[in-house]
Order: sequence, then C-alpha cells, then structure tokens
Amino acid sequence: MRVLIVSDIHSNLVALEAVLREAAGSYDAVWNLGDTIGYGPRPNECMAVIHSLPTTSIAGNHDLACIGSNTVNIAEFNNDARIANIWNGRQLKSNYKQFLNQLPLARSIDERVYIVHGSPKDPVWEYLLRPHQADDNWQAIPHQVCFVGHSHVQIYIRRNIDGSISGPIMPTPGEVMLLDNDERYFINPGSVGQPRDGDPRAAYAILDTSAQHITFGRVAYDIASTQQQMLEHNLPLMLIRRLQFGR
Ligand code: ZN
Repeated sequence: MRVLIVSDIHSNLVALEAVLREAAGSYDAVWNLGDTIGYGPRPNECMAVIHSLPTTSIAGNHDLACIGSNTVNIAEFNNDARIANIWNGRQLKSNYKQFLNQLPLARSIDERVYIVHGSPKDPVWEYLLRPHQADDNWQAIPHQVCFVGHSHVQIYIRRNIDGSISGPIMPTPGEVMLLDNDERYFINPGSVGQPRDGDPRAAYAILDTSAQHITFGRVAYDIASTQQQMLEHNLPLMLIRRLQFGR
C-alpha cells in the first residue's frame, strides 16, 4: 500500500490541491495528521476534499479550538491564531464540526505504525523536534514508526541500531528514506498549508509499505491566491504574510 501523508493543511485549499495533483497516481490511501482547519481561508472546502478521499484522520489542536472543544482552551493561542480559529469555526458546516469532534487524537494504524498530531505523550500540544523528546516518546509507544505533525517542519528523527539518535534531519525534497527494521523513527511530513521550515512550498510524504520507504515531497503552489482569499476574509495580516516566507 502507498499512503499519502499530510498534516497541518490549515484551510489552505490551493496548497492541498497542489499536493494532490503532484501525488496523483502514487497513493492508495491518505493519512491526515490533523489541523485540517484553522489559520486559512477555506475550511469547508478542505474538509470536503479530505472526505472525498480514502482518508484516515486524527484531530489537531487548531481543529479542536475551531469547533469549541473542551479539550483545548482557545485562550492558549496567540491573538492572530485565535481570530483565525474563531473565523474558521464560524464558517464550518455542522456535519464537519461533528466529524472533527469525534476524531481521536492518535491512532495505532497497525503493530508497526502510529499517527498523532503532537507527540505520543502529549498528542495536542508537544512539538516533537529534539532527540531527547524522541527518546521520551519512544518509551510511550511500542511502534517502530510514528508520524507526527504540529511543528510544520519536515523532519525525521531516527534511533539507530546501536541506540544512538540521529536528527532532527531535514530531508531534501524528493529524498527517499529506506526504513530499517532495526531502527525506530519519528517522521513529520511537514505542513501542507503553512510550512515553517523556511521553504514556502507545500510539504507531504508518501509511505510505501511494501517497498518500506518514505518519499519526502515539496510542491510549489499559488501562494498569492491563498493570500488573496485570506485578505477577502480579513484574516490577520501576519498570517497572510508568513505564507510567502515559509515561516
Ligand atoms: Zn498546525
């Protein structure tokens, strides 16, 4: 099976469509690591696209904030994020609210693979970026491969056969990483809709479960078009500008 792995779409329909065009024909299923909405201008449209695909989803902190879930406190977001989340929540159709509300925060795909928005120890809030965090979090799950989102940074952290930890490693676009049965991995596919690793292109990954490898992808999209949509809805200027810098 080939799985397209996306995270942090953040209501950026133009970026999501660019990823789906680029990945067309190279996946059989989709894993969506959360934060489908929040920040951006097209929450319902992004939810509709995700629903039209064979997708397994989990919830992220922004999804929960947008729908007013008790699991997160909207006061914990900065002002711009809070304004955008309130706007996203007001737009969102009730069937999508219900869908997001019943999503788990993490899923065990099988014995080997786990998906979570933040981290196994703190699915909602932890940004898993450092080797010591990876070490802590490997102790919380038995799985060999764990996909995480939340930081909007395309990276992986690997526990080598000798127990040493490599990473965080930023893959080069198009890089193919072979999974070794004797190693463990945290892998972040990066963000579709609001990359923060200095590369403004939409990020994703494709897992091939039979070939045992992961391909890291980046694709340019029409950033100005998303920015125009955000302007039309008076979304915060800082959120509009950051898209072009990938920060
Ligand atoms: Zn996010």
